[in-house]
Amino acid sequence: MREAYLDNSATTRCFPEVAGLMHRISLEEYGNPSSMHHRGVEAEKIIREAAGTLAGILKVPEKTLLFTSCGTESDNIAIIGGALASQRKGKHLITTAIEHPAVLESMRFLEKIGFSVTYLPVDRYGTVSPQDVEDAMRPDTILVSVMHTNNEIGSVQPIAEIGERIKGKNRSALFHVDAVQGFGKAQILPRKMHVDLLSASAHKIHGPKGVGLLYCGEKVRLQNLIFGGGQQGGMRSGTENVPGIAGMAEAAKALYENLDEDREKLFAMREYLAGAVQDIPGIYVNGQPGREGAPHILSLTVPGVRAEVLLHALEEKGVYVSSGSACSTNRPHISDTLTAIGMKREDLDSTIRLSFSVMNTMEDAQQAAYALHELVPFLRQFTRH
Ligand code: PLP
Repeated sequence: MREAYLDNSATTRCFPEVAGLMHRISLEEYGNPSSMHHRGVEAEKIIREAAGTLAGILKVPEKTLLFTSCGTESDNIAIIGGALASQRKGKHLITTAIEHPAVLESMRFLEKIGFSVTYLPVDRYGTVSPQDVEDAMRPDTILVSVMHTNNEIGSVQPIAEIGERIKGKNRSALFHVDAVQGFGKAQILPRKMHVDLLSASAHKIHGPKGVGLLYCGEKVRLQNLIFGGGQQGGMRSGTENVPGIAGMAEAAKALYENLDEDREKLFAMREYLAGAVQDIPGIYVNGQPGREGAPHILSLTVPGVRAEVLLHALEEKGVYVSSGSACSTNRPHISDTLTAIGMKREDLDSTIRLSFSVMNTMEDAQQAAYALHELVPFLRQFTRH
């Protein structure tokens, strides 16, 4: 059966050239970057080259980049490490109601140890108001964390404007951005956007699983959370994942070389699918209208059909999607994002996310549209009224 993998916000398939590069490095350049001999020096060179590529994309100095094990770790270090290092200045943090659990749970941990957190609401499209951020700022606010692109409905936040408002109120308050879903899909320039800390993850951009990136501005102080051999300036001890880091840089380079063209391709698939299903009675799209939102995420609510049932029925037709957000399936719970945009209670459980990548084709979108037309009326027959 033909497969249409439309769950690229959960994870992506490695680009063949990325897998090839990692394979070669694993076999040939296997040194520990901390070793003083030739093998170590070569491995260290690979890391520096990868950092140079990623720094070039973000237009930041190479030494501001820290490699971690995933987006979750980057978020944890930024928020918990940032709060602990700044706690003498205050104990107040600001975030939004629609952040990924990697951010929300870090905030909840900080609340448990004496910090206070303001959770900002979003409008029905999933956008945060820069004015709300500014109004929430207090003299004791030390860190603000706002995601770039929401993982469930693809809403994109006005990061540059939010950054400007934060710094206008208090230059020393840190601004963290979880760009795990935005990196590789949009131009992201932390310095221009007044961003101090920015998280990204390799497996969302056709790189390997198990590699994350944290941009940490030159003047930013963080408390390290991992203790050990002092790698990466002591900020993140542990032997670096050399093939993985090289793989992340290779994937990012490929994506950023074709960014405009790829965004166009992603929007075209997303728009086609959104248009093709609109004649299914009751179905609706979540997130920002038009091209304001992410090019790759389509959140659809199909009233009267349980998302989990639809997901498995689509799977039978070779179409892979997720219900709400794949990152939440470990702990099934009502989606924070869907609740925050004011979705009706009875629709919360009827929302699926289809997410595209540059490895998809229009035939994948057509396969999904065809399957939804066939399945939704069929499954609705079994809905209890
Ligand atoms: N932040 C966002 C917005 C995400 O979508 C995800 C994963 O889906 C993460 C953080 C966590 O990234 P990782 O899977 O690399 O830990």
